[in-house]
Amino acid sequence: KSFADCGFSNVLTNAIAKQGYERPTAIQCQALPIALSGRDIIGIAKTGSGKTAAFVLPMIVHIMDQPELKKEEGPIGIICAPTRELAHQIYLEAKKFAKPHGIRVSAVYGGMSKHEQFKELKAGCEIVVCTPGRLIDMLKMKALTMLRTTYLVLDEADRMFDLGFEPQIRSIVGQIRPDRQTLLFSATMPRKVERLARESLTDPVRVTV
Ligand code: AMP
Repeated sequence: KSFADCGFSNVLTNAIAKQGYERPTAIQCQALPIALSGRDIIGIAKTGSGKTAAFVLPMIVHIMDQPELKKEEGPIGIICAPTRELAHQIYLEAKKFAKPHGIRVSAVYGGMSKHEQFKELKAGCEIVVCTPGRLIDMLKMKALTMLRTTYLVLDEADRMFDLGFEPQIRSIVGQIRPDRQTLLFSATMPRKVERLARESLTDPVRVTV
């Protein structure tokens, strides 16, 4: 298997090569074709498996497929992660692949002032990487709408539940249009996460590494 089999654009293929990614990892081999076909995914994978690129690369393709990208506002893709450290790593990875396409990524988690985040979101972006609590704060401040959000990633869902984010996750999921594509990644699948997946994903494909 190679990245060339994925049918990525030249720009994306170059960005992948620039990262020094020669071959897709196991989770990428399994998840990329499914995500690129538009289907929902339950991914059982840990940090270090390359799962970030497995959901970020199809998100870039999904966004590039949208007509009249810059005319609308609000993120097309939203990625929720349990901690600001993880969210920041995802933000950096997303930016590497988004930037060459002129896709704007906003970071919505603690460590930056809410005022600065509000201003950045108001200016517009295609991708938001967030922790659930801070995204809820921004939604309450009307810094963004999720009207055009059609690609949602819940990363490390088990850890988000451990940290007590279930109500925030449910609130976010409930505010995003149901015809979205949803990808849920988790290292383990406790019953609560299984229930969220059943309620929030449509006919998901399960991939395990
Ligand atoms: P993740 O599990 O997404 O946190 O990724 C773990 C590390 O693997 C990160 O430093 C990535 O930059 C790197 N990585 C992801 N995909 C690949 C790949 N196909 N080849 C080499 N390194 C990769």
